[in-house]
Amino acid sequence: MKNWLIIGAGVSGKAAALYLRARGHGVRISEKRWLEPAERDGLVDVGVDVRDAGHDVNHLDAIDAVVVSPGVATNHFLVRSALQRGLAIVPEIELALDEVRGPLLAVTGTNGKSTTCAMIAHLLEGLGQRPILAGNFGIPLSHFLIDGPTHAPVVLEVSSYQLEFCDRLRSRSAAVLNLDADHLRRHVTLDNYLASKWKLLEQCESGGTVILPAELDDRAARLRLMPPRARKLTVGIGSSDADVVLHQRQVRERGGSQLADLGVLPWSEPHNDYNAMVAMLLTASIVPESLSVLAHLLRDFRGLPHRCQPIGELRHRPVIDDSKATNVAATLAAVMSFEEPVTLLVGGEPKGDAWEALLEARGTIDHVVAFGEAAPLIERTLCGRVEVTCYASLRDCLEDAERWARREGGPILFSPGCSSFDEFADFEDRGRFFQRWLSSRQDAGGREV
Ligand code: ADP
Repeated sequence: MKNWLIIGAGVSGKAAALYLRARGHGVRISEKRWLEPAERDGLVDVGVDVRDAGHDVNHLDAIDAVVVSPGVATNHFLVRSALQRGLAIVPEIELALDEVRGPLLAVTGTNGKSTTCAMIAHLLEGLGQRPILAGNFGIPLSHFLIDGPTHAPVVLEVSSYQLEFCDRLRSRSAAVLNLDADHLRRHVTLDNYLASKWKLLEQCESGGTVILPAELDDRAARLRLMPPRARKLTVGIGSSDADVVLHQRQVRERGGSQLADLGVLPWSEPHNDYNAMVAMLLTASIVPESLSVLAHLLRDFRGLPHRCQPIGELRHRPVIDDSKATNVAATLAAVMSFEEPVTLLVGGEPKGDAWEALLEARGTIDHVVAFGEAAPLIERTLCGRVEVTCYASLRDCLEDAERWARREGGPILFSPGCSSFDEFADFEDRGRFFQRWLSSRQDAGGREV
């Protein structure tokens, strides 16, 4: 038995605490905010030593090992002190790995992780299996394993934060979907970012498959990153020189033979075809079915809420909720899914993203309606090239819809490209607010009032 310190009492930290207590370990949890009485009781009742209202270095006293929650950065002073004391640091995502006895499929990348993981779970369910969908998707892995080992397949969504501390994430197969270079220009180099994501591929089992875009593989070779032990499959779009290519909704092997026809799938966004290709390749690494059988199983996959979700009409114009778009790359992907020019609602808390990227899709943007803290920056970047109207908040913007939702026009796309924290608790809260606004303008039959 060990004495563990868990840094952070969010969803992951609490799951880790309960998991470790269920195995008889000593557990202390350190949290910067005050815990609500019910939260505190849930932990104290199972014997967790709760230290809330501020982290303190003495929380490490008499501790043998530390679990970090996804939100905790590598330079957090408790992490640094733990390392100085020679303590092992385990990310929550790796805590229960030894109890995963079935195949583990892991997905990371800047955009599309949740959708791809949900597609894999859908495929496995379609094949009669009962997968566990865990990690950044919502429910921590340790929560699912609290009662002991599982033989079910596990689909794990891994965020870049979670990956920072991982050093034994031995998945059967793994994918890096994409890396958003625009976002990185401000923060770290693409090379550094790739090197950290590469760990997921490097740690994959030798019998598995790793999937990544061909251009990232070329970059990894230039950086002399260690080749993964697992079989490598590069993927690409259009005329790419990858092992598996998506072109005009067909998935083909290099050299031409067709693996699957995605024309049967019910969505129109090219990025979802890409996600489907990766989901099918990962799934095919653990099941005997062909890609074309798997494509048919995706016909009734309906997509996740707040990701390019059609939610109704305003003045006969389709309205799409893409509140999960929290960076410019995701917004750009959403815009590029349309042929008709859209009225694009963007804004929120800026992340330092490069808004010039939207100019690439200028032909499919009729009007940009910018809101929140990011609005002035968006206006400065796009003005003169795209019509931009600014509002101080999303609330103000929606109240003034008479002005920007003209009678004629293409889809109204709510794809903010920013964090939501300036006005909302998270992207779901923001998306629900947007959906409530649209329903408040319609009667029970969906007609405008
Ligand atoms: P994540 O879990 O990585 O945030 P989601 O599947 O929740 O990914 O989608 C987040 C946003 O990214 C959505 O707004 C969606 O429109 C966009 N998106 C989804 N897949 C891709 C992709 N492959 N490339 C670019 N953008 C994407």
